[in-house]
Amino acid sequence: MQGLFLFMKRFTTEAFILKHTNYQDADRIYTFVSDDLGKFTALAKGVRKISSRRGGLLDSANKIKVSVSEGSTGFKTVSEVVLLDSYANIKNDFEKSRLVFYVLELLNRFLEEGSVAGVFNLVDVTLKNISSANDDRKSFLAVLAFEIRFMHLLGYTLNLTTCGSCDAPILSPFLGAKFDVSSGSLICSNCFGGFRATSDVINIMIYLNAKIFNLDNAEVPDFSLTNISSASDLVRSYIKEISGYSLSTDKLR
Ligand SMILES: [Zn+2]
Repeated sequence: MQGLFLFMKRFTTEAFILKHTNYQDADRIYTFVSDDLGKFTALAKGVRKISSRRGGLLDSANKIKVSVSEGSTGFKTVSEVVLLDSYANIKNDFEKSRLVFYVLELLNRFLEEGSVAGVFNLVDVTLKNISSANDDRKSFLAVLAFEIRFMHLLGYTLNLTTCGSCDAPILSPFLGAKFDVSSGSLICSNCFGGFRATSDVINIMIYLNAKIFNLDNAEVPDFSLTNISSASDLVRSYIKEISGYSLSTDKLR
């Protein structure tokens, strides 16, 4: 039986690199998010040596195929890395890079070790959306879409159909409607609380709350940058309420 405890598991998975921290002289500990394992950390030995080929592939936000060995204690070590996408479009663009680092920070702060279904696919679509965006409007919409869907996957779905206070249905054109950032819910005109939200702003949130959009293929309504920004302010205030603190990269405009 004792032999079982010395057994090394080995697995290969597609993953995004969320962050790394230096370890000892030449090593790094990486945090990944993968489809089957969710968030996990693993040690990569020797990657800070100039001669290391793997070190260059293990850049933040990269999509990779990674082979990992796992010891009996659960300690994981990176063995092989294949680069699938480095998102050069994003890394060559200062604004896009800032947005992606904000997305990575949200993932790091909110995800626990282990799997949350759908997160890998959401990150995949979000990076593609930001990468292919040809103006600020599309970039900001991609990030807002990520924020709303990520909160949904974590169990913090926005309530955009009924009043969070009296439960009355709130229908278009949302006359006098408000948004309560502590509960992520609309508030009707008869109830107290919330920040005033226009019909256009609520419609953006409803649109993005419905599903994960590949913004390249979707027939995206012509939302204005001003309205996207207003919706973003409300959703970001909600995220701050949930997390209890400001994110360091949350200075996007
Ligand atoms: Zn109400």
